[in-house]
Amino acid sequence: MIAVIMAGGKGTRLKDIAVDIPKPMVPVCNKPVLEHQIINLKKSGITDIILIIGHLGERIKEYFKDGRKLDVNISYVIEETPLGTAGALYYIKDKIKEDFFLIFGDLMLDVDWKRMKCFHKEKGAAITLLSHPNSHPFDSDLIIADKNNKVINWDSKHNIRDYYYKNLVNSGIYIISPIALKYIIEPKKMDFEKHIVIPAINELGVYSYRSTEYVKDMGTLERYEAVSSDYSKGVIKRKNLKNPQKCIFLDRDGTLNELDGFINNNNKIKLIEGVADAIKLINASEYLCIIITNQPVIARGECSFEELQVIHNKIETILGKAGAYVDDIIFCPHHPHSGYKGEVKELKVNCNCRKPNIGMITDAVDRYNINLEESWFIGDTTVDIQTGINAGTKTILLLTGEKGQDGKYSVVPDTIKLNLLDAVKHIMEV
Ligand SMILES: [Mg+2]
Ligand SMILES: [Zn+2]
Repeated sequence: MIAVIMAGGKGTRLKDIAVDIPKPMVPVCNKPVLEHQIINLKKSGITDIILIIGHLGERIKEYFKDGRKLDVNISYVIEETPLGTAGALYYIKDKIKEDFFLIFGDLMLDVDWKRMKCFHKEKGAAITLLSHPNSHPFDSDLIIADKNNKVINWDSKHNIRDYYYKNLVNSGIYIISPIALKYIIEPKKMDFEKHIVIPAINELGVYSYRSTEYVKDMGTLERYEAVSSDYSKGVIKRKNLKNPQKCIFLDRDGTLNELDGFINNNNKIKLIEGVADAIKLINASEYLCIIITNQPVIARGECSFEELQVIHNKIETILGKAGAYVDDIIFCPHHPHSGYKGEVKELKVNCNCRKPNIGMITDAVDRYNINLEESWFIGDTTVDIQTGINAGTKTILLLTGEKGQDGKYSVVPDTIKLNLLDAVKHIMEV
């Protein structure tokens, strides 16, 4: 597959690092960001690379030449006048006959490209975009996807957002099928999201490939320094999903939010003190953070899938305002015993996902290549501890929520902590 990298655009605003060099040439540990990208692509066998260059592009050409030094083939498209984030694709439109990667050249990243390509093929997508939650969803464009990861809407950061939203943000990495280039009919200024992705949502099929891999831009000095530090510590590389990840699995009710009978509507969601700080600590570490929750309220007909989504959106919205995010939320909607008025018959089953079964955890392992031995399960009941034991993680029982007094299993956790913040601090210390 070919990779097209958008390496045009203005020079960097990072005045303390470099003046008047194109953003993709900003050095991270003595190597331009663009070189890091090319090295990463080559690891997945992607060696045909087209660089779209513009302002100050000569610097890029002088540095990379035909790519031989990096053992790849580089060709160039020169944008004489700035054509936005998409207009220059006009010049490659006729050359590209197969699906290709499109990457913005100012991103520091380390991605398992083959994994993303498999997803794209499996979905038969016209456009696949790599998505992830971030620490500032309130001022980011948000992607709204259905349960099959098909993008159904796009919420611009300029819209007034007076609702609870899911924290899912576009990263600037795509797989594009040539059909999606039909929107580019002449070499004029175009915006990639506005003029291609958004129309393609309804007309062609856009899919959201959710990944926990490292993809960050370096728009400010603070972010630049964070990225450089992550690189030198090896974090960026380790988060590539080819490598096993470690995860902190969290129960929901009584662990994140206060207990309040059956949580069947979002008005009942109140986060326990310190929870956002705890999750921020996880986000700053190399652990993934995934909620694993039994929600039999669905099977019992006390709460719809739609309302459950609003409940989860509320949790994500509150966390997002505090700069925290969860990497995923996985729930079991089933319940084994029938006989409830209004119950949903087909969900009244013995499933393998209801805790203490580990179906939700094995699902997370499949999605994010998690090593369970290096992972933790934190919850407020013996069911949570039994789940962790069944899955082979380490476990922490909290003295919030049910405080372990549900009495369902006779289990001993690895540790007992007062609340989630104490538990996460403990993990960071061991
Ligand atoms: Mg609980
Ligand atoms: Zn289930």
